[in-house]
Amino acid sequence: MSGSALSANSEKVNMHSDENDRRYKATPHRLGWATLAGVVLWFGLVTGLGEVAFRLLTYASGSEHLFYNEHFMWLTPVAEAILFVGFGVPLMSPLRRLPSPTALGLVVGASSLAATLGIVVSSGYVYAWVALILAAGVAWRLGHWVRRRPTWTATSCHRTLPFLLGTVAVLAGLVFARQADQDAAARTQAAAADPRVPNVILVVLDTVRADSLRMYREDGVGLPFLERLATRGLVYESAIAPAPWTLPSHASMFTGRYPNELSTGWFQPLDDRQPTLAEVLGQAGYATSGFVGNTLYCPRTTGLRRGFGHYEDFGFGWGEVFRHSVFVRNLQRKLDPLAWFGFHDELGRKPAPSVTNGFLRWLDRPGSRPFFAFLNYFDAHSPYLPARLANDGRRLTDREQALSKRLAEAEHAELQQHADFLRQCYESTLVELDAELRRLADELAQRQLLDNTILVVTSDHGELFGEHGVFYHGNSLYRPAVHVPLLVSWPSGIRQAQRIQAGVSLKDLPATILDFLDLSSQTALPGTSFRPRSGPSSPQQPRPVLSMVDPGPKADRFSRAPVAKGPMWACLDDGIFLIREGDGTERAFDFAADPREAADLTLVPEYAERLNAVREAARSESSR
Ligand SMILES: [Zn+2]
Repeated sequence: MSGSALSANSEKVNMHSDENDRRYKATPHRLGWATLAGVVLWFGLVTGLGEVAFRLLTYASGSEHLFYNEHFMWLTPVAEAILFVGFGVPLMSPLRRLPSPTALGLVVGASSLAATLGIVVSSGYVYAWVALILAAGVAWRLGHWVRRRPTWTATSCHRTLPFLLGTVAVLAGLVFARQADQDAAARTQAAAADPRVPNVILVVLDTVRADSLRMYREDGVGLPFLERLATRGLVYESAIAPAPWTLPSHASMFTGRYPNELSTGWFQPLDDRQPTLAEVLGQAGYATSGFVGNTLYCPRTTGLRRGFGHYEDFGFGWGEVFRHSVFVRNLQRKLDPLAWFGFHDELGRKPAPSVTNGFLRWLDRPGSRPFFAFLNYFDAHSPYLPARLANDGRRLTDREQALSKRLAEAEHAELQQHADFLRQCYESTLVELDAELRRLADELAQRQLLDNTILVVTSDHGELFGEHGVFYHGNSLYRPAVHVPLLVSWPSGIRQAQRIQAGVSLKDLPATILDFLDLSSQTALPGTSFRPRSGPSSPQQPRPVLSMVDPGPKADRFSRAPVAKGPMWACLDDGIFLIREGDGTERAFDFAADPREAADLTLVPEYAERLNAVREAARSESSR
């Protein structure tokens, strides 16, 4: 259409509208439900799309951000649309008693107030009160303007609504298509592996310290299923996580490299320079899949999904959907209104059963390849909200749940005051995870898959409850932060239970898994297998084991934690666990004899030579 024809046409429309508007005002009538809902929905969608635009700008500008749900592009407008219609229509329905132009003016005024407020606050550039003044100004002007043009407003809203809905649908389609593409590209083109070779399941129980478990320390919590597994499999007594927090630890478990060789950081994903275990097993003819409960540091955007032919991170539950609304996020953070209804968890948290169920759904798809599945369970991560307390079997009261949630972000003094309570809640989540693993094993047994599946159960890092004055993880390298459980069960392959004392690193997990599968010779994944050798001909050589953490851009947020002083490392070698902080301060402990790290060996002159040897071993291990 030519420009002049277009303007002539729009003039005609305007003349027509003006005439309608005059008629509209002359014969006041009720605002229709369809108009009310349409206008409110329109503003909801525009708010969501505005928030999306600002988020895209933030990501494009390269500023620091956490790893996100790629579905935010359409979940945000959907969440805002549901909230606007769900709250807006009932709240504004009394306005229908007013003459229609006035009602429409007020509806548009109120909707635009919320929309402007939402978009401006979500940009993160201005204070909420400045945004409110701005939004009030916009609402006032727009409301007045609309009162004089009710028909034009209603018609324009209805005409452009399909365009907005279409945009949201296209965004959803793009994200789903992109993820399906990524998965398809990772799906192996290699010939299927022999169906008789074992399957592999790598279970990472996020944030589980070894010494909270009775199988590692007498006064630890009893986990009947894992203990039964241990009676027929391998238990590694001294498994050390390569890092005290999720992303580098997983990246190391996947690539066979220490975190200092990888791209991962607090805000940097794993890049695609080094091959991963999933890629190698895919090339060997395995079907590969990942199911993660930790949506903070394991979603697709962290790069951990590489090599998995199917990867499930965020769910689509109501918590995950509404978490995308700027109103819900801010309201939850400031007032926590869901707590009034007894909900104390993080919005969108993925509980253990949905991780297992995702895997079982995938397992039951057609196909006969052996599989490698990675399952990350997030239930032992703070806030700890077990359904029941393990020691007396009672449910947490509403107050206790609220306390546990608050403590996830509390200051040191309050954490210290409630350390025992925190630990009790934490250990109760372990009992529930144990029950979930039993269900997983039962489901595998039902499908006749358990016997020929290598089940590796471990954790990406531990947790502290005030030891050395530190809480939680990611902020130190004390033993509770990095000493993790490690069990390997393979009913048809490992005939004899064994407890292995020597220190091992989760970095060597890929090499070990490939060794179990007799695939070591085919691959370029680095590392040294810690599969026990039978017979005297090949004794297991103990190796130095490292763990490391770099505060990076988060240094100032760690305040008094050890890592605030700069990058630090720890080394377990020759039975000594040596920790070196960013300022050069060192502490060393006897790993077997002093699990509580009470006696600092750096203060004992007789140990000077052995400590020197540990330093030397750490240096050579880190430069290998
Ligand atoms: Zn973790």
